[in-house]
Amino acid sequence: MPEFDRRWIPSVDAVVRQLPRVVLPRPLIVNTVRNELARLRAGEDAPTNETQVIQSITQKLQAIARSRIGPVINGTGVILHTNLGRAPMGAVTAAAVASAASQYSTVEFDLQTGERGRRGEYVELALATLCNAPAATVVNNCAAALMLIINTLTVGPRKRVVISRGELVQIGGGFRVPDILQASGAVLREVGTTNQTNLDDYRRAIGDETALILRVHRSNFYMDGFVASPSIAELATIAREAGVPLIDDIGSGAIFNTAQIPGLTSLHSPSPQEPMPAPSLAAGADVVCFSGDKLLGGPQAGVIAGSMELVGRFKRNPIFRALRCDKLALAALQQTTEHLLNQAIDELPVREMFERPFEALRARGEQMIAATECRELDLIESVARIGGGSLPQAELPSLAIRLPESGKPQALLQTLREHSPPIIATINRDRVLIDLRTVFPQQDSLLINGLKQILSSLPHAS
Ligand SMILES: *Cc1c(COP(=O)(O)O)cnc(C)c1O
Repeated sequence: MPEFDRRWIPSVDAVVRQLPRVVLPRPLIVNTVRNELARLRAGEDAPTNETQVIQSITQKLQAIARSRIGPVINGTGVILHTNLGRAPMGAVTAAAVASAASQYSTVEFDLQTGERGRRGEYVELALATLCNAPAATVVNNCAAALMLIINTLTVGPRKRVVISRGELVQIGGGFRVPDILQASGAVLREVGTTNQTNLDDYRRAIGDETALILRVHRSNFYMDGFVASPSIAELATIAREAGVPLIDDIGSGAIFNTAQIPGLTSLHSPSPQEPMPAPSLAAGADVVCFSGDKLLGGPQAGVIAGSMELVGRFKRNPIFRALRCDKLALAALQQTTEHLLNQAIDELPVREMFERPFEALRARGEQMIAATECRELDLIESVARIGGGSLPQAELPSLAIRLPESGKPQALLQTLREHSPPIIATINRDRVLIDLRTVFPQQDSLLINGLKQILSSLPHAS
């Protein structure tokens, strides 16, 4: 093979001068160009001329620009889409975050005394009220909550966490219950089998070394058939007998009964109900923990609610300081909790999306299709989902705009993603769908314009 001639490879400056405008900081552009040219000099690619070099570097920079966090139109119908940021916040909550971000605030200041205050005191009170619990606190996320709880309670010779084999689950990327427990300093004491665990299994496992009984909600999958495990009330009896705390990781933080969402059905159960904090505590759990940005509808956070004594111990653990929420999350959680206490559904987009009437979606869809003036678009019935590892079997009737048959649905999906703002759609039976349940009405005109632009560039669209 002939030696690749590298003498013509342009300088960094020459390339930077010829690049089209990209919205990236200049040092980032220069650095990328330098790295790409170094790759060429090392012979990793063999472009034949300068135009090709400029083209490939431009593509690289555009890919980097697209990796910035930015808003998208969620046309997937998945309400708590983990990759798209889980729960969106309402305008009032977003304004509370902006205000905490841009001004000084009382995050740790006591207006009464003029001295240092207790961080998060009010939001803890509001959360305790919401969960009907003696006390509450909050950390970075539910994984952190679990680590804090386990680390605090596994002290001295009491290191064992008793947990059912059916609950040693993986929830989303990088969250495996057994790994979290081990990393928190606990020794696992698995009981029962994957599908069957009974009270005697728990009873036999409890001994002098037991630190706590942990129940983890199997939030992101569904087991059916020969399946049984004790209720929280039954576990509570055993925990009392043994004098160990019972901890319930309920995961999604449903404050309302999800079985009452109009139209929500589940393949296996007529009333798809997620566990709620107050009933779990009432049934005898000493502490519950759950995420802030799932069904609660708030920011990323891990709420811990329950016994005053235990919550106090969690807060005195030095690790608490490393897991605490920042002021923006606290401001968002404070506002979200108040909306929940005030039943201000309109301020909670997650709730509002659940309850969007089908007919309202149809009216919006028809208007949007008319506005695009494209006769090849139509509305079809679709299925929205809760997502975020909650109620994996549950389906919510929805409506989607169906894009014209293109023969290349994946390519069309990518074109939609490359639009500004990106439109995230799905494919069903080789056709691209944009589900309207997860599109905000204030995004309708953006979506109409996007569709018009994209469809006019398609070969067969009218
Ligand atoms: C989602 C979930 C978690 C993890 O919550 P994060 O807030 O994402 O850390 C833990 N436990 C259960 C049961 C969950 O559903």
